[in-house]
Amino acid sequence: MNNTTAYRGNIFYFNDTASLENLPKHKNDTSNQYVYIEDGILIVKNGKIDGVGSYATYKDKLSDIKVENCGTKLITPGFIDTHQHSTQSSIVAAYGEKLLEWLEDYVFPGERIYADHDCALKDMTFFLDHLLRNGTTTAVSYGPLFYDASDLFFAELNKRNMRFITGNILMDINAPATLKLSTQENYDISKKLIDKWHNKGRLSYCISPRFALATSEAMMELCGELKKAHPDLYIQTHLNENTNEVKEVKKLYPWSKNYLDVYDHFGLITDKTVLGHCIHMLDEELAQIRDSGAIVSWCPISNNFLGSGLFNYERTLKFTDKITLGTDWGGGNSLSMFAVMDDAYKVSMLNNQKLPSMHRWFLATYGAAKTLQIDSKVGNFDKGKEADFIIIDPDASPFLKYRRRGVEDIFELLFILMTLGDEKIINSTYIMGECAYRADK
Ligand SMILES: [Zn+2]
Repeated sequence: MNNTTAYRGNIFYFNDTASLENLPKHKNDTSNQYVYIEDGILIVKNGKIDGVGSYATYKDKLSDIKVENCGTKLITPGFIDTHQHSTQSSIVAAYGEKLLEWLEDYVFPGERIYADHDCALKDMTFFLDHLLRNGTTTAVSYGPLFYDASDLFFAELNKRNMRFITGNILMDINAPATLKLSTQENYDISKKLIDKWHNKGRLSYCISPRFALATSEAMMELCGELKKAHPDLYIQTHLNENTNEVKEVKKLYPWSKNYLDVYDHFGLITDKTVLGHCIHMLDEELAQIRDSGAIVSWCPISNNFLGSGLFNYERTLKFTDKITLGTDWGGGNSLSMFAVMDDAYKVSMLNNQKLPSMHRWFLATYGAAKTLQIDSKVGNFDKGKEADFIIIDPDASPFLKYRRRGVEDIFELLFILMTLGDEKIINSTYIMGECAYRADK
């Protein structure tokens, strides 16, 4: 079947060679690590990128191709969110607590609904629809605790054909009875899910110990065994989010050199490990992240909401460029990567640092694809890549429509989109060339 469509509009994406080192900081910077085409054409054939260029150069070759005219909307690769809790939609925006109390009072009771099939399906359907509404096409996500709900989550993702990295959240200590599975039960669920879903379609399994305070040493040892048996699995967990958490981890693991060492002791710090937060870091922990190639997921909206602290971007960058952005939906009160990029800027300003527009957009798109080692498949518009893209309509927001009148270049456009944009300006979201969400439908 030859299924080709061309999308005409303004096009923006990063080059294959783009990195945090070589991206331009402002419009007078001559580095050309990105492509911006006003009145461009994106050709999508059988779910993959088949070509991209200016409309002028393509217009004579489009006679047999369906062309969707997007006017002055921006066509760009979908966002990549590297930290989110798919099971926490029902407790987002809960008042008044910091991390450990917030988990007890809101998260654990909220996650119980996933024991019931119908509640689980309803909640995850909302979540995935909302994710697409926000223009996120790939995520690293914590799934449900229970087998049936986790299996259902993978099935729903597979049905939507999304490139997704997820796994059942693991928790065998310090959890309420209704959410506590034995170490062996957690392990058995993981094994079954790996056998059934890892590398099926566009799905990758992720070993997901919630954090060191909720997983026993025996559990982490089994996580290490799973990773040894399947070296291509991802791992995700939380690290140095909150100062009380750091103190409690020291009490529970008195033998550890530091918080990161707890995970490293069990072989869990690898170049496919995504570490959420990384706020209260020791130099030796950052050095170990650098040496292992592990991935940092910075979640500024969650850190601000829970009062966890300010992530230090420039300090982290001195050790590693494997920095990505996450909503931490649950603690984060938005699934919009615009909101994340906006708060990343504000947190940087509070740290007396300037975070350039291109760098932030890169962290949420192609940079995340590179860091997660999926850049041969998604993240930009090179020929042959999977066609996961979004169409952004700044004019869908009355104020953005007004504000964009004086905007002269892509740097400024990205900046106002990140500062003023939200889900309402996502006109449509495409997964492998198929429209998965459209605002006017
Ligand atoms: Zn989290």
